[in-house]
Amino acid sequence: MSFAAGPANAGLIALLTDDVDVEGKRVLVREDLNVPLEGGRVADGTRIRAAAPTLLDLSERGARVIVMTHVGRPAGRVVESLRTAQLAPELARALGRSVKTCDDCIGPVAQAAVAALQDGDVLLLENLRFHPQEEADDDGFAQALAQLGDIYVDDAFGTAHRAHASTAGIARHLPSYMGPLMATELEILDGVLHRPRRPFVAVLGGAKVADKIGVIDRLLKLCDHVVVGGGMANTLLAAQGVEVGKSLRDPDLGPAKNILAEAEEREGRARLHLPVDAVVSKSVSDEAGAREVKISDVASDDMILDIGIDTAKHFRGVILEAEMVLWNGPMGVFERDAFGAGTEAVGQAIVDSGAYSVVGGGDSGAAAVKFGFAGKLTHVSTGGGATLEYIEGKDLPGVAALRKAGPA
Ligand code: ADP
Ligand code: MG
Repeated sequence: MSFAAGPANAGLIALLTDDVDVEGKRVLVREDLNVPLEGGRVADGTRIRAAAPTLLDLSERGARVIVMTHVGRPAGRVVESLRTAQLAPELARALGRSVKTCDDCIGPVAQAAVAALQDGDVLLLENLRFHPQEEADDDGFAQALAQLGDIYVDDAFGTAHRAHASTAGIARHLPSYMGPLMATELEILDGVLHRPRRPFVAVLGGAKVADKIGVIDRLLKLCDHVVVGGGMANTLLAAQGVEVGKSLRDPDLGPAKNILAEAEEREGRARLHLPVDAVVSKSVSDEAGAREVKISDVASDDMILDIGIDTAKHFRGVILEAEMVLWNGPMGVFERDAFGAGTEAVGQAIVDSGAYSVVGGGDSGAAAVKFGFAGKLTHVSTGGGATLEYIEGKDLPGVAALRKAGPA
């Protein structure tokens, strides 16, 4: 079976379906098990649980399952606190079977571990990013990985926006398939982008402002309403000439001015909604100093750290009308109690709307878990940057590599 994702007519991708014979084969699976660790333990296992069905299915079909992932940013060196062995207990729990580990991802150590596998076994290789060649998409490294397997499955949606050896290069050397988790993520996003239910409301916020300008641009064209909080709103407000004090914002106001002009001229179809009030303080750590102010009353030494009550009410009204909601980015510094109310209110409104809802972004997903919404939303994506780049209309290297390799 094959699958089209990304630009139209760009070619098909082979899917890992039941008719792919994996029994007795060494199946190299790239997953994104890049989970937060605390004191040697997994702090949030969402990505591990999301990957588990693919791995369990392969194991049950008699494959020798060899799992590749990165964890954190070791920058090409061995970092003890980022060893994948720490993920093995959580992965074993999610699979209901044991998981072997080894302390390299290529070379004699990995080869010996693979040679010892029986049909159905699951082996978790060491952190790919302990080798600088991984992020450099070095072809020798891609070949060294490819030697470990008979077929390659890319299921790492969260890393699909990176052209690395394990997400792109390796597809040049082995018969390659897209895994079910990645395929599902892309199908859901394709549904949102190409078959939106209306009213379609986008809720945007967060800290990565410069990275997200292209996303707002696309969503203004696609959605009926775009509501904006977080650092993204600060940038748009500053571009309107509003005093935002010391708030987080993009220093370059050019792109934000273009967005405002576009919204004004209604070149896109969406109405843009910005905060009318805010929770401010003198610093992120000064929770006791938090105050609600009108957006025109932010002082030059204030930081905007959440949307205010009136804004939350207005955003709620817009969201309650929605049939479809796409949410990326918290409304404020939700990690701190004094600045979490706006994010919680918006999440609650999305749940109450009963709309088909998709949440993308690592911190947005964490906020959904923190406030207890994760199970009440239609889909919480395992992708952050990958989700955003896909929404923006970019071709993801991890997807493109599978397309080029073509059906096996
Ligand atoms: P995601 O990972 O969901 O794509 P981002 O990484 O862009 O989201 O942003 C998440 C971060 O944004 C959170 O850690 C949150 O504390 C921060 N944030 C949200 N609003 C503000 C604000 N007004 N000022 C500073 N930081 C903010
Ligand atoms: Mg983030």
